[in-house]
Amino acid sequence: MADQIKILVVEDEQRMRDLLSLYLVREGYKVVEAGDGQAALAKFSREEFSLVLLDVMLPGLDGWAVCQQIRQKSDVPIIMLTARGEEIDRVTGFELGVDDYVVKPFSPRELIMRIKALLKRTCPLIAKREGELKFPGLTINHPSRRVEAAGTEVALTPKEYDLLHFLAQQKGRVFTREQLLERVWGYDFYGDLRTVDTHIKNLRDKLNQAGQGAEYLVTVWGVGYKFEVKQ
Ligand code: CA
Repeated sequence: MADQIKILVVEDEQRMRDLLSLYLVREGYKVVEAGDGQAALAKFSREEFSLVLLDVMLPGLDGWAVCQQIRQKSDVPIIMLTARGEEIDRVTGFELGVDDYVVKPFSPRELIMRIKALLKRTCPLIAKREGELKFPGLTINHPSRRVEAAGTEVALTPKEYDLLHFLAQQKGRVFTREQLLERVWGYDFYGDLRTVDTHIKNLRDKLNQAGQGAEYLVTVWGVGYKFEVKQ
């Protein structure tokens, strides 16, 4: 994946480094490892990273010094790894531009949560991906209410969009026309049940015109509709 998030892991203990890489790769991140401060700076100058995980206690150049040098040329988010009981000078850290701290031993969940929170603030790629539903040949971007089918933008009316987004969000679940009217149009809408059929038909026509996506809208005879992703 060309748009994969790349993280630089700086840690001298091999076991800890392996563990960090394992957690990060499992989350879908690309990992580059460095065993000391010099190696980290060398890698940082050659490649672009979305985030740096930086151990404080490193042989030679320590984590603070590495952080300081990185900050001279980059605003990349930096999370410092500190050992329990290790005195952290938060004022120094703040002045150096440290974004967050994780204390060892840490839970993988906490580490990933902190990384995600930080990336969400700093990485436009992530922010964009957060409200996006992606299926083969069909992308629904909720923040911008943009729908792309087969790579082409599909112009939908607000209700067509709402209906598609609602069904896609609950993929696999069948909804009756009544339920769809209630959920998509609202309880106070006194519309005909055929309104739903008309909107489904228009959605299918538009997606067909784009060349892809209509196959996701499945009619369940005698019941209603669902959004289905066939394996
Ligand atoms: Ca260390």
